Amino acid sequence: MAANPHFWLAERFGSYYSRAEPPTLPRLERREFGFGGWERKIEFRHLSFSSPMKLAETLAKDKPLYVSASSAYYEFPEARPMARKNWMGADLVFDLDAPSDKCASGRAATCSPFTCPDCIHKVRENMIRLVEDFLLADFGLSRQELQISFSGSRGFHVRAYKKELEPLGRDERREIVDYIEGSGLTVEQMMVQEPIAGHPNMYKLSGPTPSMGGYAGKFAKRIIHMAEDPITAVSISSKLKKKENAEKFIAGVKAGRWSDVPITHAQEVFKQLFDSLKLSVSNTVDTDVNVTFDTTKILRMPDTIHGGSGLLAKTIPMGVDLASYEPMEKALAFSMDKKETVKATQAIPSVELGGRTFDAIEKDKTVELPQAYAVYLVCKKAAVPA
Ligand SMILES: [Zn+2]
Repeated sequence: MAANPHFWLAERFGSYYSRAEPPTLPRLERREFGFGGWERKIEFRHLSFSSPMKLAETLAKDKPLYVSASSAYYEFPEARPMARKNWMGADLVFDLDAPSDKCASGRAATCSPFTCPDCIHKVRENMIRLVEDFLLADFGLSRQELQISFSGSRGFHVRAYKKELEPLGRDERREIVDYIEGSGLTVEQMMVQEPIAGHPNMYKLSGPTPSMGGYAGKFAKRIIHMAEDPITAVSISSKLKKKENAEKFIAGVKAGRWSDVPITHAQEVFKQLFDSLKLSVSNTVDTDVNVTFDTTKILRMPDTIHGGSGLLAKTIPMGVDLASYEPMEKALAFSMDKKETVKATQAIPSVELGGRTFDAIEKDKTVELPQAYAVYLVCKKAAVPA
């Protein structure tokens, strides 16, 4: 008889934890933990562990499918209700996810519950902008003060560790999110359009320069960056395909003159480009569970297995180039050599995992697959052990 999918997964997760390095976080003993299973991602919380080794022993014994940890530090992490834990501060944490209701590839309405490379690349680009344009550039953090990990599903988590950030309350964290998202900012606030005498349909457009701080400077830099590459320059105007026009346009923007090369419907074009520059670090599907300003939330513990994919919420090692990091290839908990037999309970599309592209699988078909991919499909509830 085929194994129950939950027990089948738990057995494999437990075996992984019994041989893996203990997952850890700074001041682990001050954090609240939660475990989840087949039905719910958090079934138990208010747990605490005195050391990474104690946590690892419990993971090997209890075999949870999900492990979450608080961004907050508590005097009594096990106490309940929450108020009795005595909150001592929290890391600054960001959760960036590819939307589950659309797909960046444009080939399908959504690729969820599977995750396609386009969606991962899009959210990776946003993660890099969050890190480079805001956390490093504007907030003065160093790469060593950041822990960047794959979420295990459709995104990344960025944790900033700095004493000065720990006491920030909900409102201050919300202000940080508003700043990063450019809430309330419009392109009209940073550009001035003046009519040109004698030319009724032409305007002189003055805008920000790349040396300016905040969003204005970022916008100018982004536009210059786009204009430098003939492929992206056409999103501004087809005129910029011509090298001399692009150079003239760039020189103008650097000096705050945005109409040296006249662009048709310039205001609308720049408005659209500006809106696409805004980063979203709030979970728009579930606004009440925002991990940045909800300082009592628990979220996926780095370097544990995500029960919805069987992939690790793996920390990206320091020194690894973020722009080329492929989590679906690097964040494996299970083997690509060992084989497992599973039966598809639904039609499964072609999926890329572990550096390989797997063909689509018909519903009800029994197949032998690398363990990492078999676990992935059982976690997705798209296949059962056979
Ligand atoms: Zn996709």
